Amino acid sequence: MQWIDTHAHLQDKQFAGEVEEVLSQAIREGVTKIIVPACNELDMLEVYDLCATYPEQCYPAIGLHPGELGENPQRQLEVILRLVDGRGEIAIGEIGLDAYHYADSLAWQIPVFEQQLEWALYYDLPVLIHARETIDLILETLERGKFRAVRGVLHAFEGSVEQLHRAMRNDNLMVGIGGLATFKNGLKEEVLQALDLTRSVLETDSPYLTPTPYRGKRNAPYYIPLVGERLAAVRGEAVERIASLTSEAARQLFPRLG
Ligand SMILES: [Zn+2]
Repeated sequence: MQWIDTHAHLQDKQFAGEVEEVLSQAIREGVTKIIVPACNELDMLEVYDLCATYPEQCYPAIGLHPGELGENPQRQLEVILRLVDGRGEIAIGEIGLDAYHYADSLAWQIPVFEQQLEWALYYDLPVLIHARETIDLILETLERGKFRAVRGVLHAFEGSVEQLHRAMRNDNLMVGIGGLATFKNGLKEEVLQALDLTRSVLETDSPYLTPTPYRGKRNAPYYIPLVGERLAAVRGEAVERIASLTSEAARQLFPRLG
């Protein structure tokens, strides 16, 4: 069985000095491909270095996270854009809107998000979207004008069945399912049952959102099978089927995974 982790911040300091071991353990668990999203102008260099060191297993995504705008997001965007072309980027991300942790800056987040959607169109890359209490706002944006052509994933999907259906009406979107699917107070079972697995990708969001029963510990890509097993149990399907459909969906959205 093979799995793909479409979202793991392996550049995080919680992995310092342990990346090699973490990646070996991921291979032992069948997690053969991992997308590593940057969050700001500084960690993107670490993301590039890490992915260049493990080119068969790790793929870089670059972008400015809504929680990392700093004092001058425009300058950060310029720095990122200067680095964006031709270094093996697989996606633009992590980008998005966050009305939970960063409600005060939402008005600033919107133009930064939209500018990076423009990059995605220009470079013909999919996007990794952080949507914290902003799913409707993001779906509205992606239903509008030229942004309807943006392909991407609603990472760490936290929405209702209605929001899932609305997202699925946009053919260019998929949802990212991870630790939230295993939490008692996380994604509802009715959402897990309603997922279209041909348009669902798995992810850990390492080092965050560690699946049950390891909640509280550092998350890592080798926990991806726990998410798959939870989906299999709730949906009454074979875990092999979950692995193969979600991996196929990931390869479809991120063709550069090979
Ligand atoms: Zn993330």
